[in-house]
Amino acid sequence: MQTQLVAALDIGGTKIAGALVDGRGRIRLRAQRATPAREDGETVMRAVAEVLAELAAAPQWSRVSAVGIGSAGPVDASAGTVSPVNVPAWRDFPLVARVRRAAGGLPVGLVGDGVAMTAAEHWQGAARGHDNALCLVVSTGVGGGLVLGGRIHPGPTGNAGHIGHISVDFDGEPCPCGGRGCVEGIASGPNIARRALDGGWRPGPDGDASAAAVAAAARAGHPVARASFERAAQALAAGIAATAVLVEIDIAVVGGGVAGAGDVLFAPLRRSLCDYATLSFVRRLTVVPALTGTDAGLVGAAAAVVAPTGAGGAAGIADAV
Ligand SMILES: [Zn+2]
Repeated sequence: MQTQLVAALDIGGTKIAGALVDGRGRIRLRAQRATPAREDGETVMRAVAEVLAELAAAPQWSRVSAVGIGSAGPVDASAGTVSPVNVPAWRDFPLVARVRRAAGGLPVGLVGDGVAMTAAEHWQGAARGHDNALCLVVSTGVGGGLVLGGRIHPGPTGNAGHIGHISVDFDGEPCPCGGRGCVEGIASGPNIARRALDGGWRPGPDGDASAAAVAAAARAGHPVARASFERAAQALAAGIAATAVLVEIDIAVVGGGVAGAGDVLFAPLRRSLCDYATLSFVRRLTVVPALTGTDAGLVGAAAAVVAPTGAGGAAGIADAV
């Protein structure tokens, strides 16, 4: 018997990736377009439709049973709409209905990208076998998602677990979200780089002032670079510990570009966690790097709709419009 496939879409501010994913989470076919993020909403939708059309032209398309979308947020899974911060022309854009039409009426499911990454890690990655987990994406922003009671917990709108906008410094700097002292404002890649520059760290001859360059300097022992990662780790630890106390997770999985810093991030993160995760029922909480890499968005978007054994896809399939 030929295996069923899910068409997955991973929609971000720089690229729109698509794939046909099989029941074991393997990618069978890919298509991709740059996101025309500064254009009008219909132009952005056209790029999505092109990705779908490229997938639909393949003979395997006849085995596709549903479309799963993981999108930059905020999303509203109950309404089937998206309002990605980095795609200004899409505000309450009816993505589910439009994708459904473009995909010939197939059922369509939608989750935020943090939830998609969580579904991928629970299905195939470091959260596999864990019934209660928090997964984080630390990169340009900080996102996340939750596995509770063995199932993905997207929440009513698909944004639950968005740890980047938990306040860990309640008198802290204003955040673009409207809050103050958010995890993202301290721990995102751009904020790690900014803090290092403010402290006197300077990029090398190549001019690379990214968080990855700060990580390289930290690895070489630069005290300001190390301090910037330690501060980011502290914010993440406080957010992770708060989550653990609220819902009793036993593992936190950290992915995204900043997690590529390795021990420069994970060593102070584990140390800091001991300062915040102090109650008996959270003391055994572990923090590990994500395993699913750059395909997490696609694999997770598929997992969120197919609900494979163990992945606990709970997004359901929205039969919107
Ligand atoms: Zn915020």
